[in-house]
Amino acid sequence: MISIAIDGPAGVGKSTVSKAIAKKLGFIYVDTGAFYRAIALFAVKNNIDEDNIRLYLQQISIEPKFENNLQSLYLNGEDITNQLRFEKISIMASRISAVPEVRDFLLNLQRNIALTNNVVMDGRDIGTVVLPHAAVKIFLTATTEKRAKRRYNEMIDKGEPADYNEILHNIIKRDSSDSIRKVAPLKPADDSVIIDTSEYNLKESIECVLSIINKKLKTSAKFNL
Ligand code: C5P
Repeated sequence: MISIAIDGPAGVGKSTVSKAIAKKLGFIYVDTGAFYRAIALFAVKNNIDEDNIRLYLQQISIEPKFENNLQSLYLNGEDITNQLRFEKISIMASRISAVPEVRDFLLNLQRNIALTNNVVMDGRDIGTVVLPHAAVKIFLTATTEKRAKRRYNEMIDKGEPADYNEILHNIIKRDSSDSIRKVAPLKPADDSVIIDTSEYNLKESIECVLSIINKKLKTSAKFNL
């Protein structure tokens, strides 16, 4: 099986880029942020905070399904795919993701998907922890202002109310907690290719990542694409 790991901070466009690349390569796209968001949703719905969530993990079952390049997610049998993108959930996901038991709980789920499928998997610690032997590791980055602007434009395009300063503030807060946490902090793997997409549009970002992947896979004797 071939694994491509794509890591990077909030709002850098990982999921859009990863989805496009998975489609191009015929791999499945795995959004690991959604797994953390699912646990965050459980916490919010049941009024549990990050200090206690580890006590409830046994009551949580997370089941992803992959169809037509789309990941849907079931939490204890309920399709929660459309409940995960709210700001409240983003903030809680960042909090519970610093809990070691939560990260352990999700580790096997993520690894098992990659054992049986060719994957483009995006997250924060895919190249460093989840799939340290991934064939290609990409770390996408962009300035906080660019990421906040992209998120702002995305929300405006969808007709959602958006406040640039609030988005910027939340991105800075999430970056900081994702980077300073003790377990699996956000950082590029030593053997990852770091791409700063601040000056790229989406098409250019996808082309850049794809050309690196193609080069790496072609030069690797192990793979025969
Ligand atoms: O990628 P997304 O923004 O959906 O992730 C939500 C949160 O889940 C992140 O802010 C991060 O704290 C956490 N996460 C993580 N490790 C991953 C994916 C996401 O800690 N592999």
